[in-house]
Amino acid sequence: MNSYDSQRISDTFMGSGHKIAKSINEADVVVLNTCSIREKADEKIFSDLGRLKSIKERSSGNFIIVVVGCMAQLRSQDILKRAPYVDAILGPQNIQQINAIVDDLIKNKVLDTIVFTSMNVEDKFAQLRNKISSRNVSEFLTIQEGCNNFCTYCVVPNTRGREFSRNVSDIINEAKNLISLGVKEITLLGQNVNSYSGKSLDGGTCNLAHLLFELANIHGLKRLRYTTSHPKDVDYSIAKAHKEIEILTPFVHLPVQSGSNNVLKKMNRKYTREEYFKCIDMLREHRTDMAFSSDFIVGFPGETDDDFQQTLELIKKVNYAQSYSFKYNPRPNTAAALMDNQISEDVKSERLRILQDLLNDQQSKFNQNSVGHRFQVLFVKSGKHEKQFVGRNEYSQAVSVRANNISIGDIANVKITETASHSLIGAIEL
Ligand code: SAH
Ligand code: SF4
Repeated sequence: MNSYDSQRISDTFMGSGHKIAKSINEADVVVLNTCSIREKADEKIFSDLGRLKSIKERSSGNFIIVVVGCMAQLRSQDILKRAPYVDAILGPQNIQQINAIVDDLIKNKVLDTIVFTSMNVEDKFAQLRNKISSRNVSEFLTIQEGCNNFCTYCVVPNTRGREFSRNVSDIINEAKNLISLGVKEITLLGQNVNSYSGKSLDGGTCNLAHLLFELANIHGLKRLRYTTSHPKDVDYSIAKAHKEIEILTPFVHLPVQSGSNNVLKKMNRKYTREEYFKCIDMLREHRTDMAFSSDFIVGFPGETDDDFQQTLELIKKVNYAQSYSFKYNPRPNTAAALMDNQISEDVKSERLRILQDLLNDQQSKFNQNSVGHRFQVLFVKSGKHEKQFVGRNEYSQAVSVRANNISIGDIANVKITETASHSLIGAIEL
């Protein structure tokens, strides 16, 4: 999501004649787009700011520092205190103002730090993204912002505000713009895309499945993905979309967080492990080649050994292709940070190690099992070696081939011949 926001920021600047600097020493403006999902990410910004301070002190011309994103939203007061040399602080729903603010800073040499942290999501998307500077084969497209779910560990509802779905015509226009610039694969983004409910072309409301059908009709689009799904909102319509839309990948990120009903309840996830299994089964029934990835949190307050064992059991049952896992990290103004029975760092580390061993093992097996199979690979860049090209298959696995006549953006049928440490190696089949 930050990657998409950064792209929008650079489009806004480029649209009014600014250019991307080759190095920080040539820059007049530096924008830090920040994350605050875990503490580490947001503390890192202060060390980055320390480095920028010394460049600013040495620079003779403009050196405007703007901090945007979730950490800016959450910790604007800390930034003002600890880094008063920052010129502007903008929350994630205020990035559309960045160009006007920077122009003002350059013209009027404003001394006080400018702070905009309004939560009006609609303003962010009121401006269409006409001047798209994207050149990648694969791009993100935000269809929904904010979140209403208030999982008890999560800071997002406080940083990005309430859920807001963009309307279908804006999304289609943006997708067409991207495709006209050479984009072949679009990943739709939202904190909870399965509850997408945007204004449809006929003035009604459109759900995620319908939106996918609309986008699949756009000429030139070769692949569609979406993330993140919330298990409580996955329904039959999305399973049907997976069965019927050829360009929709059979790979779904379906974060479960924990395999224990006790923990899920305390997390306020609003589904049980049994319901999660039903979801997985329904999707697999509609696409037998469906694979899954997930997020996990270990050491949530009150998580017992038995709760943790249930998570391991769930992992064994589902068999994931890929996963992201984290130690629970208390965040400001979240319910879980105030819960009793916080788990010690040692226990969290030990559980994370056990969980990651299992997940890594599943991922390696998933990769190993790919040998001998054929995939549609979308080529995204040249490799390090001569005539080597690297792409991604339907399951987002990196695949490299040696070939003579491949262009970036081509999709080709590739038979996997071996696995490398973080990728697959294959040969093009005609
Ligand atoms: N909206 C998405 C993901 C949001 S954040 C969803 O509901 O799945 C991405 C991931 O970060 C989460 O899935 C969760 O696993 C992790 N995460 C969020 N808050 C966290 C916290 N306080 N401590 C550790 N991990 C956290
Ligand atoms: Fe955070 Fe839960 Fe919303 Fe995801 S669904 S963004 S984890 S509150």
